[in-house]
Amino acid sequence: MCAAASDRPADRPVVTRFAPSPTGYLHIGGGRTALFNWLYARGRGGKFLLRIEDTDRERSTPAATEAILQGLRWLGLDWDGDAVSQFARKDRHAEVAHEMLTRGTAYKCFSTAEEIAAFRAVAEAKGASYAVFQSPWRDADSSTHPAGAPFAIRMRAPRTGETLVEDAVQGTVRFGNDQLDDMIVLRSDGTPTYMLAVVVDDHDMGVTHVIRGDDHLNNAARQQMVYDAMGWEIPVWAHIPLIHGPDGKKLSKRHGATAVGDYQAQGYPAAGMRNYLARLGWAHGDDEFFTSAQAMEWFDLPGIGRSPARLDFKKLESICGLHIAASDDAALLHEIEGYLAAAGHPALTDPQRDLLSRALYCVKDRAKTFPELLEKAHFALINRPIVADEAAAKALDPVSRGILKTLTPRLQNASWTKEGLEPILTETASEHGIGFGKLAAPLRTALAGRTVTPSVYDMMLVIGRDETIARLEDVAG
Ligand code: GLU
Repeated sequence: MCAAASDRPADRPVVTRFAPSPTGYLHIGGGRTALFNWLYARGRGGKFLLRIEDTDRERSTPAATEAILQGLRWLGLDWDGDAVSQFARKDRHAEVAHEMLTRGTAYKCFSTAEEIAAFRAVAEAKGASYAVFQSPWRDADSSTHPAGAPFAIRMRAPRTGETLVEDAVQGTVRFGNDQLDDMIVLRSDGTPTYMLAVVVDDHDMGVTHVIRGDDHLNNAARQQMVYDAMGWEIPVWAHIPLIHGPDGKKLSKRHGATAVGDYQAQGYPAAGMRNYLARLGWAHGDDEFFTSAQAMEWFDLPGIGRSPARLDFKKLESICGLHIAASDDAALLHEIEGYLAAAGHPALTDPQRDLLSRALYCVKDRAKTFPELLEKAHFALINRPIVADEAAAKALDPVSRGILKTLTPRLQNASWTKEGLEPILTETASEHGIGFGKLAAPLRTALAGRTVTPSVYDMMLVIGRDETIARLEDVAG
């Protein structure tokens, strides 16, 4: 029977999912997979679900689940409803395996591990490099079943012809059915296999689009058999190429950070990460810098490339810089505090928070990361006496100390605006026969202890009159 067009997954309300195995941190590739699913669902008024694939009890840990959730939260990828535990659904998986038996699309296999090994040994002795096990129980009459003996449930897979996976990224991918065995869906101890659990969960969760790494493309062929065996609609597949390092090799620790949490601890803003990760393997024309709202509107499967994307840290930084500059100050401050905690730095004190928030307007341009921004904001975060770094200390010779001394009384009654301060500083410089730059250098040292700072006016306005005068008096000759 042909399904009505409106029943096809592509026409139902969109439901996507991210299905990590909780065996470690959230990998940058996993973060991008989650992002693509999130963008696809959110841009279409659909649902984005989270399933923790914790059936491997040896390798799954609550700490890894927490690390993954934390990585998603930091990236700002919110999911609908509660995260689903795959392990908690094992009874449902077993139920479906038994339903396959009833439908005749699966059968009880009583072969022991030794018998299967012996089958393979014979095939290999005949020269086969890999032997698809052909169970003698596939067509056995139930009257021949050994009573009370343990059995696995195997799929009755087609032995001839091809399985076609229609993939939105990879196109039509063909698999010879002679390469696909009668895979086990329920082991003899009653536990479901991964291949069964994924399909049952995706079906029950109403998943319409499966967007995941192309390392799962082979699984799609086998998973389709489960859909067919149950008469369920196959979702839209989109298998995305993996992320490679800048050198084109498979991404590994030697390329730098691979965990999403590392990027948070290195001070990249989440909006910048989302933007950059969205561009990693997907394109919308030449657009490089965009908001998540734009990405939701634009994101589509045909825009995903077929070749692996290369991580480019320079591009990541430049995109992050643009997001920092475009951020609303309150949100930026909040995110900086999150960064400090993630990086294990001391939290801001109340006065520091206040001063940093007043300084943001003059430090957020051209800072590519939060450490860079905080370095520019150094003047607002420090207490007297200001300790100058080596380069800055050189600007404080006896002559410039003397000049700063003549400046302080003039600041007492100045109007504390750039317009009010400008004539005082330029007049002081010209009275001493020096250019403004020669005055600005010792001022930077006195106010910030650094040579690279925001403009001296901005620093004076942020820290205020009393603090400015006090810092100048500390160094004046
Ligand atoms: N749990 C699998 C993984 O972490 C993903 C399975 C899927 O997306 O279908 O690689």
